[in-house]
Amino acid sequence: MHGATDTAIGVDVGGTQIRVARIDATGGLCGRVAEPVLPDRNGFCAQLLRLIETVRHDACTGVGIGIPGRVDAANAAILSAGYLDVAGLDLPDLVERCIGLPARVENDATMALLAEARARATTPRVVAMLTIGTGIGGALLCDGVPWYGSGFSGQFGHLVVAGDGPLCNCGRHGCVETFSSGTALRRLVATAGLPPETRAEDLLARAATGDSVCARLLDAWARPFHRALGTLAAAVDPGLILVGGGLGTAMIGALTRVPPDSAWFRMPVEAAVLGNDAGVIGAGLRCFQDPA
Ligand SMILES: [Zn+2]
Repeated sequence: MHGATDTAIGVDVGGTQIRVARIDATGGLCGRVAEPVLPDRNGFCAQLLRLIETVRHDACTGVGIGIPGRVDAANAAILSAGYLDVAGLDLPDLVERCIGLPARVENDATMALLAEARARATTPRVVAMLTIGTGIGGALLCDGVPWYGSGFSGQFGHLVVAGDGPLCNCGRHGCVETFSSGTALRRLVATAGLPPETRAEDLLARAATGDSVCARLLDAWARPFHRALGTLAAAVDPGLILVGGGLGTAMIGALTRVPPDSAWFRMPVEAAVLGNDAGVIGAGLRCFQDPA
């Protein structure tokens, strides 16, 4: 049993930022810190422990850690972590030894989806989520429980949308992450000769007033993502696909510009509502759902 004043510590490790917050059992944020994530192993471990101590409180029940990449949650094993050099680290063991709190590790999009599902009044039995940040993460929830497949299902950023596309971190070519992530959007902005600080919202506003450069750029960003959603629908048939992460809302806006194709694989696609807080909230909630 958890008391009404109990909190847990949520950690959301992104490709760019690490966010750490204390979360109550309703998903409320009690205090948080964020800073650029250190990509080397030793620096990352020290940073993780320091930030956990920063938000720690006497009533903390545990620590949930979301990692971008392939995580075998059942075995607390980080198999790969995209832009970060943390594969193979036993983070629950590190946190338990150094902080003295039970800890668990999951894929970051799974954490985000747990928070988004809780924030909704109702959800279909099967909900998928894609998070757009530095890369593209994915997760699947069935009857409110993460679906892991044989260990790490939900790697929707690695749905191939063009076999002759750019080389991906996973070693293959043309994964949707290489076209439709935040990293890809920055590359498209640079290629178009636009200022690097140009935001997706700026592109949407300019395209809406007839700017053809911005319209083409958004098409190049959103059309591969649209293709990936169709493949996801064909393979999994979720009742709802949520699009989150820092660029989720912008992608929903860009998708409205992509003409529909096959009627076979259409389904509700909505913007997630918690933005960049979803991952850290879900990581905290995970501790209440199923204490490590
Ligand atoms: Zn890939």
